[in-house]
Amino acid sequence: MLKIAVAGAGHGGLTAAIRLAQKGYDVTVIEAQKKEALGHDWHDSMLPEAFDFCDIPRPENAFTPYIKAQHRNPGKDVVLKTDPAPSDTVFYIDRKTLIRHLVDHAASAGVKFRFETEITGPVINGGKVAGLFVKKEKQFGACKADLVIDAAGMHSPVRRNLPEASGILREIAPQDTYFVYRAYYNAVDGIRPDHPYNIIFFHTGLPGLDWLIDRNGTPDILVGGIGADIREKIAPAVEDIRAQWTWVGENVVRGGGGVKNIPLRRTLPLIVADGYAAVGDSAAMTEPMNGSGITLSMKAGRILADVIVNAGEKAPRTERLWRYQYVYQKALGEKYLTDDIIRGMLSMLTPDDMDYLFRNGVLTAKEMLKDPSPVTAAYFLQKLALFGRPSLLRPVAVTVRRLAHMKEVCASMPEMYDRDAVRSWAEQYEAL
Ligand SMILES: Cc1cc2nc3c(=O)[nH]c(=O)nc-3n(C[C@H](O)[C@H](O)[C@H](O)COP(=O)(O)OP(=O)(O)OC[C@H]3O[C@@H](n4cnc5c(N)ncnc54)[C@H](O)[C@@H]3O)c2cc1C
Repeated sequence: MLKIAVAGAGHGGLTAAIRLAQKGYDVTVIEAQKKEALGHDWHDSMLPEAFDFCDIPRPENAFTPYIKAQHRNPGKDVVLKTDPAPSDTVFYIDRKTLIRHLVDHAASAGVKFRFETEITGPVINGGKVAGLFVKKEKQFGACKADLVIDAAGMHSPVRRNLPEASGILREIAPQDTYFVYRAYYNAVDGIRPDHPYNIIFFHTGLPGLDWLIDRNGTPDILVGGIGADIREKIAPAVEDIRAQWTWVGENVVRGGGGVKNIPLRRTLPLIVADGYAAVGDSAAMTEPMNGSGITLSMKAGRILADVIVNAGEKAPRTERLWRYQYVYQKALGEKYLTDDIIRGMLSMLTPDDMDYLFRNGVLTAKEMLKDPSPVTAAYFLQKLALFGRPSLLRPVAVTVRRLAHMKEVCASMPEMYDRDAVRSWAEQYEAL
């Protein structure tokens, strides 16, 4: 049986590991942190049906209701109200509970774990990935493997150190990165929001959003911006939120701890190489509008495991692993391309543009929630164009061109691996 090393206890790596171990593969997960330290110290949204997709039992009593947000412009004078009814499909889960559930399930399926072991890069042999270089307590070593599944997140040292010839993008650009701070605060007597989930667009002055969630009485704040570090912007943003909703206290009770990064873009153009497959944030598998990556990562891990199992004992070469990228892209990745193109357009706007869009009814609750009827990109662009604000003309024109080209690029994705055809497709896809 093939020997498989999973880099990092990321969600997709764990779901792949579970399936592969169940099928008899020799699977080892190498993780820098202690088991107890895994998982963010807060709740995030996901689709519980991801567990069903992966044939993993849902964690019991772990989900709490998710309520759709109401949105404010940067000037905060327009509020797009929403019904605070809970969603039927999306739920919150405590991130530590989630990752513990996956790790425990993997261990009982026979996956081996090496915690507190840092991966420093891939072992490359004859141009192929042949394992991982690791470091534990100043001891250096190597873990050889027939296949490395890279689930080490956005800044994966495996992806970053792949040979250039692999064609895999090694760095995710700042303009495709969401810089975020997240913390729960103590609650004090004061003005509490009238809706549980409040989003403010471009609150830091950068494209992106901040939020205040009333999480059963606990204030949950996120401050975020696309394209540049937000370190200097956290304190003023939190103060501004606290000035409006005086119920937010000054003490951090969970989370905090600096700025994190989320890849905010379409899936990378190439995510497989000889002996290598990326999954989750290391492959930029997030929803480009909001950075949600848990559900997509888990499902991708399962798709990858099925492709490996179906290939039997054949060496995990690019041409076989390409099936994974193709199936993922067709089933999930393509669904988010329009969102990524629209995200690119929003990133070209200023806080003044956003105020204008809210105040003139271009952005309404219908656009925000894509509800009740689906709002197509064409409908939205038409609405934007009607307003004729000069600063919107270029972003709209670029977006119309990209959307027009998108279907053609999707249709031309090679189903079978051919190096030149795949490289040419990847170039067009990235240029969209
Ligand atoms: C503030 C915030 C809010 C978010 N909200 C949501 C949300 O509501 N819904 C949602 O779906 N997603 C959300 N996300 C995104 C989500 O966290 C990721 O998309 C998701 O975790 C998938 O990432 P991953 O599993 O691929 O990698 P990660 O979760 O980044 O895991 C990577 C693992 O690899 C390990 N690792 C990294 N480097 C090394 C190394 N050198 N050696 C060994 N191990 C290493 C890390 O310790 C970590 O355990 C949010 C993210 C943030 C930061």
